[in-house]
Amino acid sequence: MLAVVRCLEAWRHFLEGTTTRFEIWTDHNNLEYFMKAQKLNRRQVRWALYLSRFNFMLKHIPGSKIGKADSLSRRPDWEVEVERDNEDKTLVKPEWLEVRRTERVEIIVEGVDLLEKVRKSKVKDDEVVKAVEEMKQAGVKMLRDKEWREEDGIMYKEGKVYVSKDDILRAEIIRLHHNTLVGGHRGQWKTVELITQNFWWPGVTKEMKQYVEGCNSCQRNKNHTEQLAGKLMPNSIPEKPWTHISADFITKLPIAQGYDSILVVVDRLTKMVHFIPTTEKTSAEGLARLFRDNV
Ligand SMILES: [Zn+2]
Repeated sequence: MLAVVRCLEAWRHFLEGTTTRFEIWTDHNNLEYFMKAQKLNRRQVRWALYLSRFNFMLKHIPGSKIGKADSLSRRPDWEVEVERDNEDKTLVKPEWLEVRRTERVEIIVEGVDLLEKVRKSKVKDDEVVKAVEEMKQAGVKMLRDKEWREEDGIMYKEGKVYVSKDDILRAEIIRLHHNTLVGGHRGQWKTVELITQNFWWPGVTKEMKQYVEGCNSCQRNKNHTEQLAGKLMPNSIPEKPWTHISADFITKLPIAQGYDSILVVVDRLTKMVHFIPTTEKTSAEGLARLFRDNV
């Protein structure tokens, strides 16, 4: 890890702020370990802060395949009485870590033990019943490469707690993941993400969407991304009659004496109106003439 940090320091002017992600090749397998969430010590936190400025990808290449780097750094003529004393040392010993096991979850949201509720739910989907039967017949607790798994009376589908079509229960799960301190009225995608960390059922995304759209507080506190309507600016009042006029056509009328349209010209101050018979096909010149002769 120190080597990576030192390299990044040395080549910072090339690497910092690149838009394309660069790769760091290492034959040190333990480094990949740092890409997973760990409890870090202070020094590692400093490193992590530094590393976060770079757009990189750590790639593990087995030592046997990273010949180029080795030939540069391990010239045989340098290898004089080198003791291989620090191979395969783990930087962070397993016992220093606070590891969270994700299997066998205990899901308590806002004091409600949801797992217990799922376990007690009487409703069983056909799909679940089928899977249970299959498991019984085969005498196993797992089906089709972990697609279905049974544990303590709870069915897991692909590692997530399967919630049967118990509308009340599903609604409660959604509510607890959205309306509470944990949920914090997040948007539909965030809430779905939160729920599907532990639970799954067919149509959970759609149900979630409907729920969030119907959520009273969410609608009231929604961010409006579109531009707000502009301020209403009334037109100034003209000082004399016939200095400001408005004109409009009324078209598609039944033909009378060769005309099918009316040009309506209104004075903005007095509201005096001229109705001028005309046709739809009047040209700009014709219109000018109409103005000159009538208004
Ligand atoms: Zn909400």
